[in-house]
Formats: sequence, structure tokens, C-alpha cells
Amino acid sequence: MTDSHAPRTALYPGSFDPVTLGHEDIARRTLKVADRVIVAVAHSSSQSREAAFPVEDRLDMLREVFADEPRITCVSFEGLLVDYARREGAAFVVRGLRAVSDFEYEFQMAQMNREMCPDMEFIFLMPDAHLSFLSASLVREVARLGGSVDPFVSPPVLRRLTARFGRGPAAGNTGAPAAGGTAGDTG
Ligand code: ADP
Repeated sequence: MTDSHAPRTALYPGSFDPVTLGHEDIARRTLKVADRVIVAVAHSSSQSREAAFPVEDRLDMLREVFADEPRITCVSFEGLLVDYARREGAAFVVRGLRAVSDFEYEFQMAQMNREMCPDMEFIFLMPDAHLSFLSASLVREVARLGGSVDPFVSPPVLRRLTARFGRGPAAGNTGAPAAGGTAGDTG
């Protein structure tokens, strides 16, 4: 039997390259079902594809974005997610589900993690509908091509994206990426 007064910690892992309003929505929503959220940047995820920001910069952005919320801590971790979750005493791992397209990958990951750690729970939250199309890879792509990403990220992230990719040809630029430009990258 669990102690109903013990603080419940949720672990929200990802690559957060960079953190978008979609990630923020999920982390803040998690506070409805947990007392504390650890947003954890995975070192390994960045190795499989071209990262826009080093892990330290991603962490800096996360910390600025959640500076107003003492119940959210931002860290990075290496190794297996379930090992890290156990070490931190997380009651569950939270992931965001944007659309059916996320489901298969998330289901596979959760089942594999459950095999390794049967007592860990995985919880999936949906973002606000207007954020359900948003992905970090799309934000990176639009920023790279000089489009405006103001509606998709918080000011600290916008500053870093502007420093990294420069300011786009602002007026009249809708920020739509080139056709096919984001294929294969769902982050
Ligand atoms: P990954 O390396 O798994 O792609 P991300 O940093 O892209 O990691 O995302 C971390 C988690 O946040 C994943 O569960 C992903 O589905 C979720 N997520 C990303 N963008 C959104 C969004 N716009 N709305 C809801 N969840 C999201």
C-alpha cells in the first residue's frame, strides 16, 4: 500500500531540442496528477539525429522556461530511462501524445520499458488541441529556413533560436517549411 501523503514525482523525458509550447503544456499539465515533475533531457536521443542545441543549452532553455514553477526541475540523464526513473523515485513516466502517429512508437517504448521495469507506470497526456501539430523538429526546420517560430516557443527559446539561426526574412514569411523538409523526424 502506498502512502497517500508521499509526494508523487513524475519523470518527463525527451530530447527537448528545443523545448516547445507543446512540451511546456505537457509538463505543466502533469502537475495536475503529480506533486513534482522532473523534465529530463536524454543524452542518447541527440546522438541519433542532428541536434540543433547541445544538451547543456537545452537544459538552460528548459530552466528559463520553467523558472516560474518550483515544482518542475530540469536535469539531463544518460543511460536507461527506467534506471534513472527508479533512482529518482519517480512514481511514473509521462509522455505526450499528439496524434495517432505518436502512438505506435510510444506504445513500443512503453512496453519495452515495462519489460525492464514492471513496476513503473507510463502515463500519456494530450496537449491542448492547438499544440497538437507542434514538434521540436518542425520548429528547428522552420527556424533554419528563416521562418517565424514566435507562436511555437517561449521567449527564452526564441532568443536562442534567433542567435543560432538568425532572424528570418520576417515580413510576409509564414514560416512554412519546404515540402518534405521534415520527413522522418518526429521530435
Ligand atoms: P523524442 O526524442 O521522443 O522525440 P521530444 O523532445 O520530441 O522527444 O518529446 C518528448 C515528449 O514530448 C514525447 O513524448 C513527445 O511525444 C512529446 N511532445 C513533443 N511535442 C509535443 C506536443 N506538441 N504536444 C504534446 N506532446 C509533445
